[in-house]
Amino acid sequence: MPSLFDGASARIEAALEHIEISQDVAQRLAQPDAALKVSVPLRHDDGRLTVFSGYRVRYDSTLGPAKGGIRFHPDVNADEVSTLAFWMTMKCAVMGLPFGGGKGGVAVDPKQLSPAELERLSRAYIDQIADFIGPDSDIPAPDVNTNPRVMGWMADQYRIIARAHTPAVITGKPVEMGGSLGRTTATGDGAFHVLSTMMQRWERDAEGTTVAVQGFGNAGQRFAKLAADAGYKVVAVSDSSGGLYNADGLDVDAVTRIKNEQGSVSEAEGEALSNADLVTLDVDVLAPAALESVITADNADEVAAGVIVEIANGPIASEADRTLIDNGVVVLPDILANAGGVTVSYFEWVQNRQAWYWDADTVAERLESRMVDATRAVADRAEEDDVDLRTAAYMRALEKIEKATAATGTSEFFGRR
Ligand code: NAD
Repeated sequence: MPSLFDGASARIEAALEHIEISQDVAQRLAQPDAALKVSVPLRHDDGRLTVFSGYRVRYDSTLGPAKGGIRFHPDVNADEVSTLAFWMTMKCAVMGLPFGGGKGGVAVDPKQLSPAELERLSRAYIDQIADFIGPDSDIPAPDVNTNPRVMGWMADQYRIIARAHTPAVITGKPVEMGGSLGRTTATGDGAFHVLSTMMQRWERDAEGTTVAVQGFGNAGQRFAKLAADAGYKVVAVSDSSGGLYNADGLDVDAVTRIKNEQGSVSEAEGEALSNADLVTLDVDVLAPAALESVITADNADEVAAGVIVEIANGPIASEADRTLIDNGVVVLPDILANAGGVTVSYFEWVQNRQAWYWDADTVAERLESRMVDATRAVADRAEEDDVDLRTAAYMRALEKIEKATAATGTSEFFGRR
């Protein structure tokens, strides 16, 4: 099986069939700018010591400081972190944000840790990567299994190390520590704006359109709620413990309550459904919002949905692309569909640097306007060049990086002296 990163490179190659960028840029983007591997020691509550592997990658900084989340998950590894950092590079470029791409993670199952252990691990990780990050070089944020509380511990640890109040070093912080209003809901909000913009374009109604959401965490829950509130029929949702189905539509608010009180959607009312079956369910819109590679060459032919909203990063393996296109499945690509989170992270960074905070309506309006504009630009490009939306998004991102490189000259590649 190709590595995750091989799959990511395949998307660049698909875009390069339609545009020309310099060999320098193509070569430069074939590997990360800098990759750090660290050991993260954790003293458990019972006195034991475990040393976890941690990573931070700055993939590219042509358009600005690297930007990207931190994941706590047992499967975190160097290939995954690099690939996620590469996707962040493309995402920031396609959204027109003044950032490059980065990513980080620790190979740990945070569910096995007490709150005090989780705090010590978060602070220890920052101890190890503090020289690698900074408000002008590399700015972390939340990702799978990390949240505002974890970002708060990390920002506080950085403050202690730097002996300076530097809230712009990490986004997705609690509002009380300089976080932006609207950050927690931003990824789900953004994905919903992308879907709504395309539905308008296709002159399709939300009413009666069926939706299945895989992954009922931060992003998936918010997306499901907005969809249900707008009249879509959310018939299936799932989390790592399994899925739930109701042909008449689930009560999303009730499922959310149960998930948050009891830890899993399986406890709520509805028929049980496996995660594998959810992906091939006969629905209009499928929203994978969990982890990578849930649609592969093995099951792509069985996908029955007409539209896939990639809320997760990389839920479709590149070798499934051709089958989905041939079967007429329209994919709203991750580098656009889940860009709401990094967009409000950008707003947070701006607010931190200005020490001037926006109200919730301002954040929401600016997010919607950026998501709608980016979606229209990608959709226009796809029509003009007769390519799928993912290829169009990559074409726009690569062209932006190419232009910025051309504007600065090639000194970056050949040394500055
Ligand atoms: P989260 O940790 O809040 O939620 C993840 C959800 O996925 C949980 O409900 C978990 O139970 C479920 N899950 C885990 N393994 C699963 C499996 N094998 N099958 C089905 N469900 C499974 O994470 P999140 O922040 O909502 O992120 C979800 C995805 O969205 C990730 O791919 C992440 O990279 C991407 N994303 C998140 C943000 C953000 O701002 N949070 C931004 C951009 C992209």
